[in-house]
Amino acid sequence: MIEWLEEDLARLRAEGLFRERREPIVEPGPWVERGGRRLLNLCSNDYLSLAASPAGGASGSGASRLIVGDTVEHVSLERALADWLRVDDTLVFGSGYAANVGTVAALADANTVVVSDALNHASVIDGCRLSRARVVVVPHRDVAAVRRALADAPERRRLVVTDAYFSMDGTVAPVAELAEECRRARAALYVDEAHAIGVFGPEGRGICASVGVVPDVLMGTLGKAFGASGAFVAGSPTLTRWLWNAARSFVFSTGMSPAVASAAAVALPLVREGTRTRRLLANADRLRGFVARETMDGSVGPIVPVLLGSPERAMGAMAKLLEQGVFAQAIRPPTVPRGTSRLRLTVQAGHEGAELDRAGAVLADVLRRV
Ligand code: PMP
Repeated sequence: MIEWLEEDLARLRAEGLFRERREPIVEPGPWVERGGRRLLNLCSNDYLSLAASPAGGASGSGASRLIVGDTVEHVSLERALADWLRVDDTLVFGSGYAANVGTVAALADANTVVVSDALNHASVIDGCRLSRARVVVVPHRDVAAVRRALADAPERRRLVVTDAYFSMDGTVAPVAELAEECRRARAALYVDEAHAIGVFGPEGRGICASVGVVPDVLMGTLGKAFGASGAFVAGSPTLTRWLWNAARSFVFSTGMSPAVASAAAVALPLVREGTRTRRLLANADRLRGFVARETMDGSVGPIVPVLLGSPERAMGAMAKLLEQGVFAQAIRPPTVPRGTSRLRLTVQAGHEGAELDRAGAVLADVLRRV
């Protein structure tokens, strides 16, 4: 529960500026059906009336969700996600970048301290900057530093933000310890589960679920394990109500494509069911076995970073792998700190064991030559 959101919502209501969610529309077009009524639609940006594409569901929502872009596909996906995650509500965004930038900036203001892991994703960092909050960047996975930052903070509004599974290092955040620090310091916990959703935890619900933590804000993406695009923020109805009103990347942006929302809803039972996740984790162990010495300390799961140091070594290794038909992206500064250029291997459920064995052997050979 983020205590200050009720105050912020009350202020909006008092000023007559509160935006309430209504019934979604059934299909975009010059006429729309909403709540059982047929209405002439004079508020969409679907200028050429192409949003209700004949190619498999409505391709466009035609407008911001707050105007006329809120469709049954969005609402049905949001309910299914909430049911899966065992939270009261969720809100979907057009992308994970938009979800983080909009949500962090909506939750924090100049009277807030945000405590942020040094390796958090760029979208979290940009959200912090836009929020105008005082930001304390703590070393990666350093719970004691989080505790000190909270103890020293004069601000009453406190937010701790972390990725759950770090996308360049394959490391996992200490979410149970962070939740305990937040409880003691009356801070809110925000966890970006972008790379953990569908990969870790019961029914693929992520790192927090795997250790029984319920963060105040759980963000996840639909463009990674779900194979679609977009993202969601999960939490209390107060949270989603506030974001509906205050997350600028949500309010001032065209709603997620309804066809994409449907695609994500179709993927959800496959994510929950777990066969693919089990294959993925077995494949990850298999490939990781070839680079056990070169991978980063503490790295687990399908992100397998191979540390090479200089950008030249990383680029050289990528080129040699490509010659052998293996595509592994080199990652250099500013994406990662200086001196830690690397190859970032990511495994999929659809890889065959023999293919990974061959790639592992090619990789071991390339690493000897760069
Ligand atoms: N958070 C994390 C941790 C990510 O890795 C990414 C994707 N690179 C995002 C957010 C942004 O998600 P999207 O690609 O959907 O904008």
